Amino acid sequence: MNVLFLGLPGSGKGTQAQSIAGRLGLAHLSTGQVFRDSVVEKTPLGKIVEARMNAGILIDDELTNKIAESFLEKNGSAKGFVFDGYPRNVAQASFLEKLLEKKKQKLDFVVLIDVDEQVVFERLVSRAKKDGRTDDSEEKIRFRLATQNPKELVDYYLEKKMLSTIDGSGTVDEITRRILAVLG
Ligand code: AMP
Repeated sequence: MNVLFLGLPGSGKGTQAQSIAGRLGLAHLSTGQVFRDSVVEKTPLGKIVEARMNAGILIDDELTNKIAESFLEKNGSAKGFVFDGYPRNVAQASFLEKLLEKKKQKLDFVVLIDVDEQVVFERLVSRAKKDGRTDDSEEKIRFRLATQNPKELVDYYLEKKMLSTIDGSGTVDEITRRILAVLG
């Protein structure tokens, strides 16, 4: 089973992706986490992506697609994947489709976690203070919310009749239950 989570930054998709991957035994790809780790570990990838990440700007598709491709290769025996923050646009979505096709697989579920933009703004500001996330300051958060809205992919998967929208308000457990109901 392959599941993609869509949502604004701060919608809780990372938390839910991790929880669902753990419960269902799926491999969890968070490209944002891969990039953040690479910056902390000062790897060659980290040096390439650090400035863009700190500015809250997307990393280019070619590099991001390579990260996804090598993650799928490394986890070749996984019984499925949870995609979180990847794909981020239609170009990446098409690339992922081809990657999965090669494995005779497809995305089985695309779940949009629907949240109010003001609610996530407040959530991101308090998370940034707590975690000291270097890519989060109030101005950058506004910028990320404006530029990283999943609308392009929402329209793309709506058109393909693949999108399930769930209410992203309430407790973490309530949201998890809604997602599990969608996944059957
Ligand atoms: P996230 O944790 O998903 O919010 O990602 C944090 C940052 O990593 C983003 O602001 C981008 O700079 C970068 N990033 C993560 N995923 C992608 C992606 N699929 N395409 C391009 N950039 C990404």
